[in-house]
Formats: sequence, structure tokens, C-alpha cells
Amino acid sequence: MTAKLVDWFGSVTEDSALKQQAFDVPFELIELQKFDYALEGISFQQLTRMPNAVHASTSDALEATAYLAIEDFLHASIKGLWEAFWSQDEPMPFSVACLYNSNMKFYQAEQAIANGRLGGLCGTGILLNNSRHPHGKWDHVLELALLRPDIGGHAVGSDRQPSPSVLGEALFYALRMLLARSLSRLSFFPDPCTVFVLLVDSQYGGVVKVEGDVNKLNFDLNNVYECAAEWVKNHSRISVSPIDRIWNKLGNANWGDIGALQVLFATFHCIMQFAGMPKHSVEDLAADHSSRLQTRRVERQFGDTSVNGNGVFRYQQRSVSPEIVEVEDDSVKVDSKESMISEGTILWVEDSDWQKGFQIKEVINTGELTYFIASHVEESGKNLFLYVGSHPSQLEPAWEDMNLWYQVQRQTKVLTIMKQKGLSSKYLPQLSASGRIIHPGHCRRPSSGGNCDHPWCGTPILVTSPVGETVAEMVRSGQFGSEEAIRCCHDCLSALSAVASAGIRHGDIRPENVICVKSGVRHPYFVLIGWGHAILEDRDRPAMNLHFSSTYALQEGKLCSASDAESLVYMLYYSCGGVFPDLDSVEGALLWRETSWSRRLIQQKLGDISTVLKAFADYVDSLCGTPYPIDYEIWLRRLRRNIHEDDHGKEIDATG
Ligand SMILES: [Zn+2]
Repeated sequence: MTAKLVDWFGSVTEDSALKQQAFDVPFELIELQKFDYALEGISFQQLTRMPNAVHASTSDALEATAYLAIEDFLHASIKGLWEAFWSQDEPMPFSVACLYNSNMKFYQAEQAIANGRLGGLCGTGILLNNSRHPHGKWDHVLELALLRPDIGGHAVGSDRQPSPSVLGEALFYALRMLLARSLSRLSFFPDPCTVFVLLVDSQYGGVVKVEGDVNKLNFDLNNVYECAAEWVKNHSRISVSPIDRIWNKLGNANWGDIGALQVLFATFHCIMQFAGMPKHSVEDLAADHSSRLQTRRVERQFGDTSVNGNGVFRYQQRSVSPEIVEVEDDSVKVDSKESMISEGTILWVEDSDWQKGFQIKEVINTGELTYFIASHVEESGKNLFLYVGSHPSQLEPAWEDMNLWYQVQRQTKVLTIMKQKGLSSKYLPQLSASGRIIHPGHCRRPSSGGNCDHPWCGTPILVTSPVGETVAEMVRSGQFGSEEAIRCCHDCLSALSAVASAGIRHGDIRPENVICVKSGVRHPYFVLIGWGHAILEDRDRPAMNLHFSSTYALQEGKLCSASDAESLVYMLYYSCGGVFPDLDSVEGALLWRETSWSRRLIQQKLGDISTVLKAFADYVDSLCGTPYPIDYEIWLRRLRRNIHEDDHGKEIDATG
């Protein structure tokens, strides 16, 4: 049949040479845009990734994965659409299965592949569930997708139409569906005269819509294909969408992009043919777009006004989950601490065999914690961070003291271990000193050990270098731009790479825990600080942060190999102006992650900054939740190539 039609395609194409397109498009751009707005709140989740360049290789494993991926894609599409537009409560009455060419029956891809039928698979269909026909009936087929090699590469013309041979195949299957519907005694489809066939490869796809009355088909058993071709020429109306990208190179569906939208919209029409008009119309759901836009503007406004004062902090504070951190407004306590240690104060610190004095130069109050910039009394030029822990006599530390414990005692332990293991990198903090405060006045501690009743007695201190401004601060004052973002990504990744070799993970990456070192260096660089929540062994638990924790950390309370990188991506997203919704529960935080990744909102935001950051986010997305290690070297190299410096990156530590 295809052979009979190729000439006709040729003539159609010639006829239309003066016009823009050989065939009409099934959907107008404006319809797709409205549909896109309606989909904004809907999350689609394709779990099996589409392998890259399936047909460039002859590997059966790749082709098998492609069939699993297309099945999963259609399943995610139809489930998302059904729940959003028709019914959340009623079970979805459809299933997805692969078409086997020798008997034209449908099988689950996994089952067909296990039974050695991979070579005979020729399509993937969405079917009405019917337990009496587990292998499907043709009048039960809602929509059919044909996975064919290089649909995108063979697309012809400026309108990127599919090649004649694959179009012919689509028409063959379309006619088969139309005939089955017309001959069926069960009239599932109120309008049996329209069918959609999808054409896909491992990256691209498009939609073929065929309309026509098959009763006008002049059926001659001796000349089936000729008759079919005649019908197509004289009695059908065919519309074909441009071939557009659906999957990125990492195999994630780009749900919000036009290629996927066209296919989703076709599937939407197929469900509508069977189930009637949706409960929630496209117009209804799309109407929410402007209110969402309004909310976002308000959020942005909020972010901007926070430049004065600590608005950003309050904004984050407000959205911190009460089930995770109960921050008590214990301002009396904070005040007393500040009044005890203020600018100019000299703190004497002792360890078992030394005593050192540190003069406080600046008090930093993040709202969450107070710490200090200080210098050694004998070396006043060099600034250091000084953290004062909680008094050891407190048996049940309050939340604030718990944070202090992580910041001082736990971090001292982590930095000491890093030092012992010889882990060093300019992007990691250095342990300068740790010990206990020697308080003024006479110490009446008992000779058996312990502390006296002076409030400072035995209070632990941690001193680290270098010092710098936090990313949170830079964002607040508008100093975090695209160059900073790339540099920050590189430097944090370097730090993570350095400690990964010793099995250490950070577990608490957020804008308050990355500083930019500017003083005394030619090129500013970033250092990943705040190692108190680091994961040294299996039983350690990462910090929980609704905005920056990885998906795995929120779900499992543990880190997977890509978790720190995932948090880094969220931090960069936020620091580059990305907006978080109000997150007040773990569920909400997980939903935001799922939706943002599946709609590629994070990649899009980072893509505005730089393509390498977008690519890195795609890479991290592909690793999230998997046990596969991050390939630090590749990404450090790529990021390094994107860092602009007059000395061509000589200063960047190539060893990471
Ligand atoms: Zn004492």
C-alpha cells in the first residue's frame, strides 16, 4: 500500500510546493498553547528513560528499552490526562501494550521481549481495558504509536513532515483502526471516523490524524491495497504535525515542549472520543494560568523587597516545615549571646597543649545562628570564621543548641577526619583551631574534671578559614550572576569530588553554606562550608530542608550518590532567581520536585543562565535516586571551559 501511495505523496507534495505545507496540521499553535497552560499543574512521570540513538546501534537491549520507554511514556501521558481532566477517583479504563506483527495482537512490552518477540514488535497502542480480550481487539484501540528509526532525521521540508514511507505505514494502521471501529458491533466511539497515529523515534515524534468514512471504501478482496490507496486519495482527510523533539539526549520526555504537547494533545482527543467531554475543560484548567502567573509575580515581588532587612530569611522561615524544625523565637537568648561576645571581644581558647587568643571583628547573625569573623591576636591580618558552641552542661539542648552542636562539635569532628584522611582542596574549609573557651575570672572547676558555673566554662569553639560572604547574602544584594553560578557549581562540585573519594557527603547544601572568597585573591572562588551534617557512615542522617534537600533525602532520610549534586542544582536554581512555591510539608516539597523535573522547569531556568548548567541539571536528573556515581571529572572539565578568566583558568585547581 505504501508503494501505491508514494507517487501520490509525490504529487501532493508537488501540488503544494507553492503552498507552505503538503498537509494541514492537526492542531493550531494557539490550541496547543492553551493546552500547555491547562497542563501546568499536572505532573507526568516517565519512569523508563528513552535510550539515546536506538537505531544507530543494532543492540537489541537498546531497542527493547525503547519499547519499554514508549510504553511507559504513553502510560504516563494517558494517566496524567485521565486524572487531570476526567476523573481522579475512577480507575483509568485504559492500558498500553505493544503490537506483535505476526498475529496483530497486543502484549505487554516486557512480556513480549521476554518471549523473544522483540523483532516482531511494530507498534504500541493505547487500548480500552477488556479482561475478556487480554491481547486486545482492534476496535478497542484508542491510539497507536509507531516507533521507527530516525523519524526526526528523515523529516522532510521546512515544515518537517515525516518521510513518505513512514507516513504510508501510519495510513495503513489508521485505516485498519477505522475499519475495525466501523465493523465493530460495540460502538465505543461516538465518532468512529477519526483516528490518530503517533510517529516516534528515540528523540522526535509527530502526529498523523486521519478522518474519513470507511463505508466509502471500495473493498475488492483481490486488490486490497489498491482499494485502500484509492480511499486514502479520494475519501480521507489527512493532517500531519511537524516532527518535533520529545525526548532529550538523556531520555527524559520534555513534557512542556511542542513535540510532546502535540502527542499529548492527540492522546487527549483519543480519550475524548471514548470518554466524552472532560469534567474539567481545557479552558477551565488553562484559566488558572493567569492566577498562577499572578501568584508568581507576588512571590517575585516578595523576593525583591527582601533586599532590605532579612526578608528572605523570613520567607524561608515561614515555609520551613513545622514537622521538621520548630524554630523557637528565643530572642532573649540570642541577645544575651550577642551581648556577651561582641566586636572587639578577645576570646581565649585552649586545647590540651596550647592557648590562643582570637579577637572578634564582626558578629554575623543569620537569624538562625550567630557566628563570628575573628582573627588570631598574633596575626590580625588573617580573617577566620569562629563558631561558639552550646554550653556542655545542657543535657537536653534546645533546637538552637542542637544547630550549634552540629555547627561546632559535629563539624569539628568532620573537619578533623577530613584532615586526618589528607583531604584537601581550596574549595573545602580548613580547620584552624578547635578547643574550649577560657572564661575570664577564676575557674572553679573541680579537679576531677567538668566545668564550673561560669556560662562560658568549657564551651566548645571551632575556628576555620577562609572567610567570605555567603551565597544567600550575595543573592540578597544582587551579586550572584551567571558567572558566579558557573563558578559556584564548579567549585562546590570540586569540593564534593574531593571528599567523595573518602566516602564523605555533605548533606546540607544551601545558600547559607557556600561562601565566596574575595579578599586577597585575584579571582573570587567558592568554598562549601557547613559540614556539620556531613554523612560519614551509613547511620548518619542528612539535614532536612524543604527547599534544598534532595528527593531521596526527603523520602528516605538518606543520601544517594547524586543527592548533594541535586541540592546544588536547587541552590543554583534559587540563586539564579528561580522561585519556590510555599513549601510547608515533605509531600508538597516532593511534589514540587517531581513536577519541576518532569516539566523541566529547573533546566529551563538554569538554561537561561548557561547551557552547561542546564546540561548539568539534566545529568543530575538522570542520576537522581540511582546508585550510579557522579562523573565529577567530566563535569568539572565542562564547567572549567565555561569559566571566563583572563589567565585562562590557571588559578583553578585542576586536581579538584
Ligand atoms: Zn570555669
